[in-house]
Amino acid sequence: MTVTERPGTPTFTDGFLVSSSPATGAEVGRVAVTDPDDVRAAVATARAASTWWAGLGFGGRRARLLAWRALIVQRLDEITDLMHRENGKPTDDAMLELLITVHHLDWAAKKAAKVLGPRRVPSGMLSSNIAASLEYQPLGVVGVIGPWNYPVFTPMGSIAYALAAGNAVVFKPSEYTPLVGKWLIDTFAEVVPEYPVFTGIFGGGETGAALTAAGVDKIAFTGSTATGKKIMAAAANTLTPVLIECGGKDPLLVDADADLDAAAEAAVWSGMSNGGQTCIGTERIYVHEAVYEPFLAKLTATAKAVTPGEAVDAAYGPATMPSQLDVIRRHVDDALARGGTAVVGGAESVSGPFVGPVVLTDVPEDSAAVQEETFGPTLTVSKVRDMDEAVERANATSYGLGASVFSKRRGIELARRIRSGMTAVNSVLSFAGVAALPFGGVGDSGFGRIHGEDGLREFTRPKSIARQRYPLPMSIYSFGRTDKTNALLIRSMRLLYGRGAPKR
Ligand code: NAD
Repeated sequence: MTVTERPGTPTFTDGFLVSSSPATGAEVGRVAVTDPDDVRAAVATARAASTWWAGLGFGGRRARLLAWRALIVQRLDEITDLMHRENGKPTDDAMLELLITVHHLDWAAKKAAKVLGPRRVPSGMLSSNIAASLEYQPLGVVGVIGPWNYPVFTPMGSIAYALAAGNAVVFKPSEYTPLVGKWLIDTFAEVVPEYPVFTGIFGGGETGAALTAAGVDKIAFTGSTATGKKIMAAAANTLTPVLIECGGKDPLLVDADADLDAAAEAAVWSGMSNGGQTCIGTERIYVHEAVYEPFLAKLTATAKAVTPGEAVDAAYGPATMPSQLDVIRRHVDDALARGGTAVVGGAESVSGPFVGPVVLTDVPEDSAAVQEETFGPTLTVSKVRDMDEAVERANATSYGLGASVFSKRRGIELARRIRSGMTAVNSVLSFAGVAALPFGGVGDSGFGRIHGEDGLREFTRPKSIARQRYPLPMSIYSFGRTDKTNALLIRSMRLLYGRGAPKR
């Protein structure tokens, strides 16, 4: 058993990336690190495979992707056990992650033809002799760079949709969860043995950087905002398009008429499940003053009952990335030093790999615990005079990924006003499980969308085709255009578009 200094920190030994348990430090397994030449070779091989994969058409790809989906479900115990050992999360949480993932894989495989396939579009009066059609063609090779917190669900939001759209994929899993990534690649190869349509490269940040520079047709990145900026800058050198899915500081709003039991239970689960390592997990709560006290009482009672641990059925597991403990500690210490109160847990909760639940009140809005992504099982709770103030404060960070609103009467109205890519009303995280809903952020949370129709189109380029069905008696797109034709065009323009201007 190899025990690393801080359990879970990946180590690089003799050309291998050694992955270890964040709970115990025990080695989970190792993979060979891919050097930059091999990264370029992987992209070149994927390019050849992409032609074959695209040529299968929607029907052929759908059959294979659905077979992969079924294989993943058959091997559920194997992958959830591996996720528990490598990422640290309880197996039930891993199961939930898999359920949502296969739901998306199923949706992408089945909807791709309808969303992306050729379709006629109206050509308009001026082009009545033209048959206009639109289709969305695959880009070629998509490079996917993933994080460790949801090592299956998160990268698969790009992988499943990119594959369904007809692309080959080269995947660089996080150095904290390379074996889970490899498992996905290996199971895909079982159902698609013909060509390396979905392959992996392994290593740390420099391997991801090599992929960005290896001539892929798009980079789909999920991870921290700091890395997202580096990737975007590097991709600019080759005008490689990027999809950037970064962190968040998601707010949860509790209105005066909210179901407080439901809101408190949901807030604790959203903020603390997966050890708070959820990009769309609640980190800040804004509560209408009329219900602040009863809500806080319910929230603290619920949070106090949550216990992390190594067991497969613990509420949540260890911090997967040990260095995050320093961030969590800094946020809690700073909040307490600046007048905040810990009503659940406290500085002592951040002592080992298993961080206890922390609920903070009276934390200044400009402090790190309110402005920066904590990525631990912590919540800040603030009293607001009304829901306008709640929306204003919710919108006052640089992030804009997800959000939640608990309100009986004003849920939709408040949801619309929150600056975020997704908002759940009277629930938390629920948008992630609706395959038709696009997923992504604004501001420091990134741009571009996975999931839904937008998530399929993200990995394509629109192709427009205008076929002339018969020549018009008067030629428009020609040097032979006559004065008579020009006069007719001016009359048509006035008739069609010239009315409705303000009177002078
Ligand atoms: P990270 O940015 O440290 O690493 C992400 C990936 O980028 C890893 O595979 C890493 O090896 C790679 N990488 C690092 N430097 C690179 C470089 N210069 N060029 C190319 N690749 C490089 O992030 P993380 O700690 O793995 O993930 C946690 C973050 O991910 C959190 O901020 C979380 O909110 C975010 N996240 C966002 C979403 C979303 O959908 N928006 C989902 C999950 C996680």
